[in-house]
Amino acid sequence: AKSSRFDPTRPTARFDDVAGQENAKREISELIDFLREPDRFRAVGAEVPRGILLLGPPGVGKTLLARALAGEAGVPFFSTSASEFVEMFVGVGAARVRSMFEQAKAQAPAIVFIDELDSVGRARGAGVGGGNDEREQTLNQILAELDGFEGHEAVVVLAATNRPDVLDPALLRPGRFDRHVEMTLPSLEDRVAILKVHTRKMPLAEDIDLRRVAAGVPGFSGADLKNLTNEAAIMAARGERTVIAEADFDEARDKIVMGAARAMAIRPEERRRLAVHESGHAAVAFSLPEADPIYKVTIIPRGRSLGATHFLPMDERYTLSKAYLEAQLVVALAGRAAERIILGDVSSGADDDIQRATRLARAMVARWGMSDDIGPIDLRLSDEHPFLGRDFALPRAFADATAASVDAAVQALLTASEEKARAIIARRKHGVAALARRLEAAETLDLADVRACLEETEVEQVNGPLA
Ligand code: ADP
Repeated sequence: AKSSRFDPTRPTARFDDVAGQENAKREISELIDFLREPDRFRAVGAEVPRGILLLGPPGVGKTLLARALAGEAGVPFFSTSASEFVEMFVGVGAARVRSMFEQAKAQAPAIVFIDELDSVGRARGAGVGGGNDEREQTLNQILAELDGFEGHEAVVVLAATNRPDVLDPALLRPGRFDRHVEMTLPSLEDRVAILKVHTRKMPLAEDIDLRRVAAGVPGFSGADLKNLTNEAAIMAARGERTVIAEADFDEARDKIVMGAARAMAIRPEERRRLAVHESGHAAVAFSLPEADPIYKVTIIPRGRSLGATHFLPMDERYTLSKAYLEAQLVVALAGRAAERIILGDVSSGADDDIQRATRLARAMVARWGMSDDIGPIDLRLSDEHPFLGRDFALPRAFADATAASVDAAVQALLTASEEKARAIIARRKHGVAALARRLEAAETLDLADVRACLEETEVEQVNGPLA
């Protein structure tokens, strides 16, 4: 049958191609010697880890690392995605697994890589697709293969998943996938390193600052960064330029983060309101030393958003101080505050701001003990899943009265933050109004423009207009 052929590849990837992920690389590199010279290990009776589970969100380089291991060791790489098996007829997935392991053993030393292990490896009889015979048979076959090694074949099995929480515990038992290597989204330094890897062969403008580019894309995975460099190259080629400039990266980033710029007919009053709203965010962020520096503010509609103020946190933050979070709240509510002060009323445009601010305020009160009235107690209603970025409801383990006081503390925090935003905007009213006019004209302003506009206007206010 067709299921019986597996063509291994001979990856050319090397550890140098995997930027960052130093911990994962260190753990995996132990296996290189074993794959290169299994006899040396065998001779002294050493048992080498066989099943390694790579855990982490999509695009962080799990597959790349597995391929780099094969490349470094110079061994064949048998690869499959467990999701392929789910749709198959009963028995086919199991047969494919069997044949893949057989061939890997025949060609040992070799690597077997199973991507998306969770799609067959979910805890049996639980959750989505429970009772799928094909899935279970495939899973059982994988378990049988792992158990069936005699201990001396030089076959290393790597599997990848972003859902370790749903995996069948049977997969994680000793002798199976008992080594876990966690891979996380890259830090700022790692993002710089990944950009360097992917721009190795690209003609970059001499003055390009990859650190600045990396700072502008927090939360990007390696795969996202690769996509970014490619989009930037496309921008340059479209513009008939022979070197890639930082502006190309900016444009590529905006396109990826916010969607392609949209041509929309926006009524002049609405455009004015957008400009006022974004100027509020920008002016307040500029005024608060704790807030992240502004990257740019724009009223060019992209994707779902009509306008946006972007920030450029230059350092990686691992813990967030209360002062920083409070500044975030004030900045988030400043768009609305500007609308109220300059235009006299508010609009539905602050929907997203209010949602984000409320979530943040709730976390501050109910998770991080930042309200003196509530104290350091975990009063979460949901748990955020680290890999999915999704919330799961938790059973509420506290009294109604406590819930009410959390609500009150959240409300107080939000109201105080809006007050603070209004105070800043009232103080800089002329500056914010001038900024809105300039934004309406230019559509996009950067930090230098914002500073210049606010400072010029305020100097004029003090000294009278320059004649
Ligand atoms: P995963 O298996 O974790 O979903 P992949 O290994 O498939 O991620 O990553 C997709 C691509 O993204 C890789 O082929 C590579 O080009 C790029 N990439 C991801 N992580 C890194 C990294 N740490 N260094 C360099 N490139 C990376």
